[in-house]
Amino acid sequence: MAQLILMPDKERSALKRHPWLFAGSVGRLVGRARAGDTVEVLADDGRPLGRAAYSPQSQIRARFWTFDAAETVDDAFFKRRIATAVARRAALPELAGQEGLRLVHAESDGLPGVIADRYGDTVVVQLTSAGADKWRSAIVAGLVKATGCDRVYERSDSDVRGLEGLAPTTGWIHGTAPSVPLSIGENGVRLGVDIAGGHKTGFYLDQRENRRLLAELAGEKEVLNCFCYTGGFSLQALAGGAASVLSIDSSGPALAQARANLALNPHLPGVRAEWLEADVFQALRDFRKEGRQFDLIVLDPPKFAPSAAHADRASRAYKDINLLGCRLLRPGGLLMTYSCSGGIGLELFQKIVAGAALDAGRDARIVRRLAGSADHPVALNFPEGEYLKGLLVQVD
Ligand code: SAH
Repeated sequence: MAQLILMPDKERSALKRHPWLFAGSVGRLVGRARAGDTVEVLADDGRPLGRAAYSPQSQIRARFWTFDAAETVDDAFFKRRIATAVARRAALPELAGQEGLRLVHAESDGLPGVIADRYGDTVVVQLTSAGADKWRSAIVAGLVKATGCDRVYERSDSDVRGLEGLAPTTGWIHGTAPSVPLSIGENGVRLGVDIAGGHKTGFYLDQRENRRLLAELAGEKEVLNCFCYTGGFSLQALAGGAASVLSIDSSGPALAQARANLALNPHLPGVRAEWLEADVFQALRDFRKEGRQFDLIVLDPPKFAPSAAHADRASRAYKDINLLGCRLLRPGGLLMTYSCSGGIGLELFQKIVAGAALDAGRDARIVRRLAGSADHPVALNFPEGEYLKGLLVQVD
């Protein structure tokens, strides 16, 4: 096995068990290693730090598989790690029985570059790093073993693969396509999931708990759901007894799936739902001119800032929609607002929302802080895992 020797005094983050080694902290490679190969990581003084996957093309030059320098990274390693990740979910009562569930959350489950989501009896896997890509068949075998699922679909088409020099790869890698369209039950609502063409692995499982909260809050309210995608929040608002739910998205296919999802739920009062294909920035401005008002507004936009480098522009976009959102709320109304940008921290996000309320001339207070569901845990040694943050704000 090749050895990756760190620069002098660059072992601190590894000693704190942070799984990434940036190019700037790597001194030299002793021996030969290709993309995805496992290398032994050593401090400059020769102290062994663990074993990592080598990514010669990426700024994240290596990702630790293990901080135990004696642990072998082989098929059995992946079987163990995946079984542990699945067991973690099974041990949390709130996740028991969920048909849609994230089984493996990458670094936070000790498996950098590996995402696995379960939709009924189908697992969708996304491999985003050279190391994860290399161990594809061990990972698939581990998922099949740990879940008993006999279908695994690969959705390795995320942009970040490009940074690793990996081409997109998609398709069935275990079993065959189910004969009926895939759907999951979530808090009493049925949702179709397009694993081949949808976002991420097909659905935003990370918002499950927040959608449930919306159902609790929506009773009798006029709800506006911005960036609705396939209607997850919209349907929960209807289930919670909303007076009306207006949902906006710029994607025609997402709205088509949202309408189909509503049709899957004949118990919901579909006449109270309205779908609008539009740019949210424009639509909110138009509503303002028309003097429209709402009791509860959800803002769950796409990632405006994939990294800290985009933070400035993204901040303006978040400010803009939150400002418009505050203006469209009736007194006492609720703003449920999110950022899933890794490049925008919680503190900055709160500042942006505060600035938005101030500019809207509205006093407002945080009544709840919101985060991703429990199947998207954040490892304490990997704070970067906390990408989704949200605030429930009550506006005077
Ligand atoms: N809340 C959803 C997930 C939202 S994902 C859920 O719980 O499932 C973000 C959505 O924003 C995507 O569906 C995308 O099509 C949409 N989108 C991106 N930019 C937009 C814009 N400017 N106006 C309207 N929709 C937009």
